[in-house]
Amino acid sequence: MAVKVLVLLAIVAHVCADDTPLTIGGLFYKDAEDLKIAFTKSAEQFNFTASIKEVSKKGEILDVTKNVCELATEGVLGIIDAIGGRASENIQTLCDVLELPHVVVQHNDWYSKNWSVLNMYPSPEAYNTVLQELVQEKNWENFTLLYVKGHSLMRMNSLLMMGNVTDRYTVSVRELSGDDYRDVLINAKQNGYKNFVVDCPLQYLEQLLQHAQQVGLMADEHSYIFLSPDLFTLDLNRYRHGGVNMTGFRLVDLQNNERLWQLTDIINNGTERTLESEELNTKTLLIHDAIQIFHAALKKVKVKTEALSCDNGISWRYGSTLLNFMQTNKVEGITRTLLFDGFGQRNNVTFDILELTPAGNQTVGKWNSNGLVIERPFVPNAEIGIESAMRNKSIKVLISKTQPFTYIKYTSETLEGNDRFEGFAVDLIEYLSRILGFSYEFELETDYGSINKETGKWTGMVLKLRDERADLAICDLTITTQRLSGIDFSTPFMTLGISIIFKEPRKQPPEMFSFMAVFSKEVWYYMTLIQLLLGFLMIFVGRISHKEWQNPVPCIEQPEELTNQFSFANSVWLIIGSVMQQGSEIAPIALAPRMITSVWWFFTMIMVASYVGTLVAFLTVEKDVMPFENVEQLADHKSFSYGAKNGGTTLQFFEKSSNPVFRKMHQKMISKQWLVADNDLGVALAESSSYAFFMESTSIEYYKERHCDLVQFGELLDSKSYGIGMKKGSPYKKYIDDALLQLKEKGEIQKLKDIWWKEKRGGGKCGEKVNKEEKQLSMKNMLGAFVVLGVGCCIGLLISTLDMLWAVFKRSVKYNTTFKEELIEELKFALKFSGDVKPVKRPTKSDEGSAEALAEVEKKDEVRSLRSIRSGRSTSTRMTCHSHSSRHSSGGLSIAFAKRRDYS
Ligand code: GLU
Repeated sequence: MAVKVLVLLAIVAHVCADDTPLTIGGLFYKDAEDLKIAFTKSAEQFNFTASIKEVSKKGEILDVTKNVCELATEGVLGIIDAIGGRASENIQTLCDVLELPHVVVQHNDWYSKNWSVLNMYPSPEAYNTVLQELVQEKNWENFTLLYVKGHSLMRMNSLLMMGNVTDRYTVSVRELSGDDYRDVLINAKQNGYKNFVVDCPLQYLEQLLQHAQQVGLMADEHSYIFLSPDLFTLDLNRYRHGGVNMTGFRLVDLQNNERLWQLTDIINNGTERTLESEELNTKTLLIHDAIQIFHAALKKVKVKTEALSCDNGISWRYGSTLLNFMQTNKVEGITRTLLFDGFGQRNNVTFDILELTPAGNQTVGKWNSNGLVIERPFVPNAEIGIESAMRNKSIKVLISKTQPFTYIKYTSETLEGNDRFEGFAVDLIEYLSRILGFSYEFELETDYGSINKETGKWTGMVLKLRDERADLAICDLTITTQRLSGIDFSTPFMTLGISIIFKEPRKQPPEMFSFMAVFSKEVWYYMTLIQLLLGFLMIFVGRISHKEWQNPVPCIEQPEELTNQFSFANSVWLIIGSVMQQGSEIAPIALAPRMITSVWWFFTMIMVASYVGTLVAFLTVEKDVMPFENVEQLADHKSFSYGAKNGGTTLQFFEKSSNPVFRKMHQKMISKQWLVADNDLGVALAESSSYAFFMESTSIEYYKERHCDLVQFGELLDSKSYGIGMKKGSPYKKYIDDALLQLKEKGEIQKLKDIWWKEKRGGGKCGEKVNKEEKQLSMKNMLGAFVVLGVGCCIGLLISTLDMLWAVFKRSVKYNTTFKEELIEELKFALKFSGDVKPVKRPTKSDEGSAEALAEVEKKDEVRSLRSIRSGRSTSTRMTCHSHSSRHSSGGLSIAFAKRRDYS
């Protein structure tokens, strides 16, 4: 019975023992909290118990030994070593003896191939191969290996060899020691090193990057390969826009990685942290993968843990078997397939190759044992953002002491650096730097730059930009095809043209016939022509308006003939009398002549008012006497000299012009030495002598504001623009262009121009120059009056035509003739334009039958007219027997009477 109970207990004990989670030991530095959490949580995930042993700090070998032995006593399955360095050697020795699997999760410089080690970290062989391929891919021929003191170059051996084996590669090595890496980095910069391979553990990486940036090794000409697979877990945003090329590795696939997301959740659940998957460092992931390897191996092999002792040298029975399974078992972990060679090294690893781009971290390729594949993804410009390539860069900007682009500040203090300068260009660069996030340093350069035709060499700013001794040039730098062949320009920020500035000429009193100048010649011509035409029109309209034919002797009731007042002389007199505002005794009777006369009066009122209003200015204002009327006259002027800025594009314009006059002027300027070194000198000469200075209109505008006796002459001779100069293919161009457009669209450039042209440094001194120049009235100004007159005349003509047709019709009925006959007769008579006497038509004998009817009509007419006279429609009516001509002298009374007679 007792035996049976014992057997049962043994079975239960065995079963219970099987269910007890197996323990995995972990060695960590005390402060490696994150790793400890990852270890505990991952162990829980795979149903293990985690036993953590801590080492206070680096080099505590005794601590390490003690911890390993304690873990052995606890009967762990193996030890996960998150300490590394020399301590790993110690752990390795003990694990070797105890035959405990020793799983390393970091690179170990003192790595020795040993059967009991399983190194989760990519092997040095893998690193050597990928680095070599990457350097070749990047076509580096010079590069520097940077490593942190206390570490070895084991992973970069192949690169060192590249330098030794062939002459093609120049490899230098720099050790980063102490807390400050800047000295080493400055030295590298001074030596002109641009490509670096950096072996720096994660804990020092941030400091290294900062120091590199501080010494100016993070510009677009610099390129780095970082060995640490954790580079991209850091926040690299601040380096993103500097243009530096950073390449690094990642072991984990961030897309479609269920295990990674699970681990992130597990870690975040137990803590208050909210880590993102991409923030988990490689060590954390490898700890998880190491536990997964234990778990996978235990599915294939049953082991029994034993309490071991470091003292008796007895090893674990299952140790080597377990390790064997761990090495050979193909497991898919977070860091992809976990495969090891016979020495527990991970050669068969897959690296994602990452690059830092302005749009952020980008996976640009992959490396595995089959080789390197680079597939650069397209980074859309929109993602890059306007500021990208220039952020945090220090830029050398060339300026010139040309007003108002750059001035030296007036101050009693001693200023240094950029503080010494002010002006339009200085402000513009400041605006751009705020948008694009760069810093800048000014350098003065007087020569803007041109190409020497004999030597083919560039000079001045252009040369400096080409030699990369400066990044930008900003002043009144004109965009020319010649310069464009040597450098690039930003989008133009100002447009201008060449013009002439010279001293305001003496004024002269108005000329004798200046009253004629009120109207332009064409107005005078049209006025005269119109008067003539109108004269004819009045005659014609008068002749066809039957009411204008009046009885010359009103006391004779049945006159033999009728007269018309619109003779040529009368018509012209009526027209001229109105122009002179004097009137005349000619008074139209019919509607059409009255209408035309009214419109004419209206027209003359407008013309006379305009003339009188403007006349004063013409009689009083003194005129400028221009010493020359155009550039050609200036070229031949005896007492006037002229010039331009030497070496500038204005002079070039004359040299290259297709106009022979301009080319002749260029030769004369040079032979007579009329050129000046800068605009200030040219302006001073123009002010003090008979010197016409050719200058760009923007500069003329500026000087005119401050030198009130200077004037600009004539139209612009050409049209061009200023741009910011930069080297050919400059990476800044796009960003500067965008920022300039932004500033233009917001009106900031115009505001700056107003400030530096019209306000600061003596701007506005001359005030708004009143243009005393009299303004001549041209056809453009008077056209309205002419149109009104034209329309009025047309309407008058129409009315008179209708009137004539009606009268012709009535007559044709009255005298029993055809309408056509009457009309032809009437028109023939009217178009004769001569004879203001018209016989009254009487019925012929054959018309006897209608004679009575005619007498009846005439009687009616007579009665109607007498009635209207009595009703007093006229204020003064007096029957006179004066002839038509005598009515002219007796005022309007007889005309009033004549108006009421209707003879046909
Ligand atoms: N803007 C000119 C240039 O870029 C200088 C001034 C001038 O020639 O008038 O050379």
